[in-house]
Amino acid sequence: MYDVVVIGAGVVGCAIARQLSKYKIRVAVLEAKVDVAMGASRANSAIVHAGYDCKPGTNMARVNVAGNAMYDEWCRDLCVPLKRVGSLVAAFSEEEMEQVKKLRDYGEKNGVPGLAILTREEALDKQPGLSPEVVGALWAPTGAITCPYEMTIACAENAHDNGVEFYFDFLAEKITTLRDAVEVESDKNVLFRSRYVVNAAGVHADEISRLMGDDSFTISGRKGEYILLDREASGFVQRVVFQAPGPLGKGVLVSPTVDGNAFIGPTAVDDSGKEDTSVTQAGVDALKRAGVRSMPQVPANRPITAFAGIRAIPSTGDFILGQSKANPRLIQAAGICSPGLSSAPAIAVETVESLRRAGLNLVERGDFNPVRKKEKPFRAMTQEERAAAVEKDPRYGRVICRCETVTEAEIAAAIERTLGKATLDGVKRRTRAGMGRCQGGFCAPRVMELIEKYGGIPMEKITKNGGASKMIVGRTRQEEK
Ligand SMILES: Cc1cc2nc3c(=O)[nH]c(=O)nc-3n(C[C@H](O)[C@H](O)[C@H](O)COP(=O)(O)OP(=O)(O)OC[C@H]3O[C@@H](n4cnc5c(N)ncnc54)[C@H](O)[C@@H]3O)c2cc1C
Repeated sequence: MYDVVVIGAGVVGCAIARQLSKYKIRVAVLEAKVDVAMGASRANSAIVHAGYDCKPGTNMARVNVAGNAMYDEWCRDLCVPLKRVGSLVAAFSEEEMEQVKKLRDYGEKNGVPGLAILTREEALDKQPGLSPEVVGALWAPTGAITCPYEMTIACAENAHDNGVEFYFDFLAEKITTLRDAVEVESDKNVLFRSRYVVNAAGVHADEISRLMGDDSFTISGRKGEYILLDREASGFVQRVVFQAPGPLGKGVLVSPTVDGNAFIGPTAVDDSGKEDTSVTQAGVDALKRAGVRSMPQVPANRPITAFAGIRAIPSTGDFILGQSKANPRLIQAAGICSPGLSSAPAIAVETVESLRRAGLNLVERGDFNPVRKKEKPFRAMTQEERAAAVEKDPRYGRVICRCETVTEAEIAAAIERTLGKATLDGVKRRTRAGMGRCQGGFCAPRVMELIEKYGGIPMEKITKNGGASKMIVGRTRQEEK
């Protein structure tokens, strides 16, 4: 019998799990996939939004601004990168300038600090290389960049260190509400009994809600495609550069990443389905056009990869948070589209308060440890630190991913830290092995050898990202002997 089960191990579910781990309660996170951060939290713009584009008075506006302010502390404690580079919304016409001013007004009502309307010259000064066709911009100094999957992984590891249990390959399919508990059953007939359920199931949160008798909203998918540019592109963009928003959201942006790359994206393809993360040539072409419109010199023609994520668009137009009116044992964290990454810490705090109001007895643990430790990456070490690391563990001397300088020691540690099942993409997200210019062309087979060695998964069972994404079909007859 658990006190709370959280369905979904994206950034929202894992942040909630971490917040719950401060209390003397029994918590489990149930995730359909083999690892954390496999949904929208894997593929998004990685922006910690300042909070000016949410309509004042909405849940989104409240948790975005509060979440942004919490990011410094969460990232420091969890060892997650955060850069307060600031964001610009560039206007290309007087009409767009009016839109930008409306964003400023929204932001001021939402309590976003430091917003300023910039002239063309001031905007070009903030971001050299910005299109000379820009007529002005909104500047938000609290806009920041982070790493969304690192944030998710870190919240999960910290929650786990503080006693939260994680179960993977658990697709919640049947939920029965009893008088004083809820039973959640998987497609494989594994059953959990809990006093409360937190619904953090991303694009599928409407289905979980319906299983518990609440059909007050639906969720549709809106695909966003990206192109990731090589490190050389980071010299061209230092701020997050938005264009004036359109009917389908914040529009295409050009931004640096915390790891020293740059990207252009996302597109917005409405009603794209909930699982289709394919990238289209039309999408890539549109991104290249939009990217050079904002930043004419950005090398948009030299992407190293392309990817897509699915936004969970709620029919209510706002995040659905708090206790369900239809089922008091259900606490919603549903319809979390953008700015859900920015809002996750504040959603976590509010969700815990909703559970308290719903009747859960929350007594703080004296031994909660907010800190998640992560070794400094080999590529970021000084020569002296590298020498000391190799001396201590010779596996630091074996570089597996040459593009990103990732060593065997780091990959072994990542495999051992994985709460679910080690996969090629899971190792990539934890270490950056395969994230460089060759995109794993050289290191993938060697990473697979290490997954077999340290994760105990036979080669022919290793997948790229779970499910049917096997890397090899089998062994040759000669090898079998
Ligand atoms: C293109 C794009 C750009 C974005 N850019 C930004 C940005 O720059 N800044 C920002 O703040 N936000 C951004 N967002 C939004 C942000 O990514 C999401 O709000 C956030 O990741 C949502 O997290 P989540 O945990 O709710 O959902 P997910 O990360 O989708 O996690 C939900 C999890 O639930 C699991 N699940 C579903 N059904 C079941 C079931 N039946 N049983 C068990 N498990 C289940 C899924 O497998 C999944 O792992 C963007 C989103 C997209 C798609």
